[in-house]
Amino acid sequence: MNTLFPKFFTAAFLLIFISHSVKAQDTDERLYQIIEDVSADRIEHDIRKLAGFGTRNTFSDTVSNTRGIGAARRWIKSEFDKISTNCKSCLEVFYQKDFVTPEDGERIPIEAWVVNVVAIQKGTKYPNRYVIMSGDIDSRASNTMDFTTDAPGANDNASGMAGTIEAARVLSKYKFESSIIYVGLSGEEQGLFGGKGLAEYAQKNNWDIIGILNNDMIGNIEGVDGVIDNRSFRIFSEPVPPTETEDERRMRRFYGGEVDGISRQLARYVHKTTETYMPEMNPMMIYRLDRFGRGGHHRPFNDLGFAGVRIMEAHENYNRQHQNIRTENGIKYGDVVEGVNFKYAKKLTAVNAINLASLAWAPPAPAKVEIGGIVEPSTKLRWESVDGDIAGYKIYWRDTTAPYWQHSRFVGEVTEYTLEGIVIDNYLFGVVAVGKNGHESLVEFPSGTFR
Ligand SMILES: [Zn+2]
Repeated sequence: MNTLFPKFFTAAFLLIFISHSVKAQDTDERLYQIIEDVSADRIEHDIRKLAGFGTRNTFSDTVSNTRGIGAARRWIKSEFDKISTNCKSCLEVFYQKDFVTPEDGERIPIEAWVVNVVAIQKGTKYPNRYVIMSGDIDSRASNTMDFTTDAPGANDNASGMAGTIEAARVLSKYKFESSIIYVGLSGEEQGLFGGKGLAEYAQKNNWDIIGILNNDMIGNIEGVDGVIDNRSFRIFSEPVPPTETEDERRMRRFYGGEVDGISRQLARYVHKTTETYMPEMNPMMIYRLDRFGRGGHHRPFNDLGFAGVRIMEAHENYNRQHQNIRTENGIKYGDVVEGVNFKYAKKLTAVNAINLASLAWAPPAPAKVEIGGIVEPSTKLRWESVDGDIAGYKIYWRDTTAPYWQHSRFVGEVTEYTLEGIVIDNYLFGVVAVGKNGHESLVEFPSGTFR
């Protein structure tokens, strides 16, 4: 009789223990710490420093130590070097450069080196997998061919550059399973040359790129129409990669996936992580490559088939971008430091940092996800197992008209699963790998079918 009591207590204890450990996996305390550690003051300091170089036009002075893009990139490199010194050389810092001449584009007044500053924090488990955060080094005046006039580019894009440096400061205190790259890209305003150069470098070196979070203008909260909003921001992503094959395009017609390309999955990931860890923010998924007819440095990565999104403020102020500093009819023009809200830039930097961390702590997504269930009252999925010690896999699904994943089911360490009662026609599906630390890979959308 008495033995019942210990059994009862053991069971009760186990239940408590299990429910606690499941709950503990819901969120990762370290991500809250990362958000807190991002400093608005340091971001302000760095934006002032970058704006202080007068102009960072790609073709500006490279010799001076106080003015021009040469001084700016040397300062950025020295900051990355300093961060590395503080983390026992955890960053590999180098210049990656390509030569451009006026024949290479319409916005190239003279020949010059387009020089990116790259800092790589190598992953412990998957060193050849990379998640990238980028900002831009360069700025422009009203005329982008004019490389001598002052162009402080405080918001466009010292904000993204300062955020990238700050993310490196904060994340360099941790070890990650995959590698993180913090990069300042150049030549953006002249035709996205820095991004093109690094994307080609990545391809040449067979980098397995998880995705790039390109930050371009993350500090303005006052729209040109007077709207003030320090909570919303935009995540731009293209629907499907431009590199898809004719076969893939034809498959899509019959099986779906028009809004489920790799960049869109990355955008959904950023959206979800933000909603989970920074519920005060309002992330807006924008279903397009970039602003209407405009460009950014994630595009050259997309061009080569890599996932990439643009993260930026929700309300742009056109008086404060691509403008010579002046006052006209009482309106102040120019991208000056006074137009930047540092606390907001801190928030968007934190959005990047938690997504870099989560992705770099997560296992790779399962490869070759296939789906079946035609004329059946259930949906079947199968996939290739992920190398390494992981917790298992999770299947996501949502209504065909829903922007975000609505339903999920953790299915353990299996490589195929049948969702009974779920009719394949009425939903879209995807699979993620879940690490033992609870972090999830990007969603892998099915790329094949089976019966
Ligand atoms: Zn710009």
